Amino acid sequence: MVNPIPVYLVGAGPGDPDLLTVKAMRLLKEADVVVYDRLVSDGILDLAPKGATRIFAGKAARDHFMAQDEINDLLVSLARNGRRVVRLKGGDPFIFGRGSEEALFLAKHNIPFEIVPGITASAGCGAYAGIPLTHRGMATGVRFVTGHCRDGAHLDLNWRSLADPDTTLVIYMGLINVRKISDELIKAGLPGGTPAGAIERGTTSDQRTILTTLADLPACIDKADLKAPSLLIIGRVVDLAQDLGWHIPAQYCDAEALG
Ligand code: SAH
Repeated sequence: MVNPIPVYLVGAGPGDPDLLTVKAMRLLKEADVVVYDRLVSDGILDLAPKGATRIFAGKAARDHFMAQDEINDLLVSLARNGRRVVRLKGGDPFIFGRGSEEALFLAKHNIPFEIVPGITASAGCGAYAGIPLTHRGMATGVRFVTGHCRDGAHLDLNWRSLADPDTTLVIYMGLINVRKISDELIKAGLPGGTPAGAIERGTTSDQRTILTTLADLPACIDKADLKAPSLLIIGRVVDLAQDLGWHIPAQYCDAEALG
């Protein structure tokens, strides 16, 4: 039997609850069950009804990560029980969010679903740090790249194609491999002096932004001790943060200051 209520795969945006879509907010307020990820902030979860069941999909009871298979099975069984399920994900469900994997699983089990887009980290962090992802004369395009490989495998990106001074590079999950990312891009021809920034907990009241160059990015991140979730942005547009930053002042970091 097909459950008439779809499972809603909802993007929660990058942190600031004001960045939820109207649809996301309406669905949250009507939810029976919210299955949420680590990146979803408390302010957003608080919008679900008091009586709604909240299930943290980041970690299972015995303190290890809930595997994707378990999450998939959970969504199917909740839906089959006739619950109104909101699967809440940080940012946008279809950008490094595995929303499509969950949707495929639901489709395979004949469970209807809807996808509700959210503001992805690059749009949110760019806006709040004053870094436009494109700007006439500075960047004709933007690429979203993961800095992390499945199961910790060796990061093997097409560095040549990424080393394009006319394109803004936005790297999700890039903290751990930032040294390699910086080295490989420079080796592939992107100048070490290319402006680069990192934004930690973007759009929240704890946002931290560091501004530097591609060559100094690893050392600056280390010095500032940035933690996840952080987003890396590399490209000429990063320079505009000096004039366009409005949320929380950025920290500047240069080689001399690093000593
Ligand atoms: N689906 C999400 C991305 C999930 S991958 C989206 O569309 O935004 C997780 C990565 O997203 C983090 O490692 C970090 O690189 C980035 N990220 C998510 N929220 C962020 C935030 N508030 N500030 C900085 N980076 C963020």
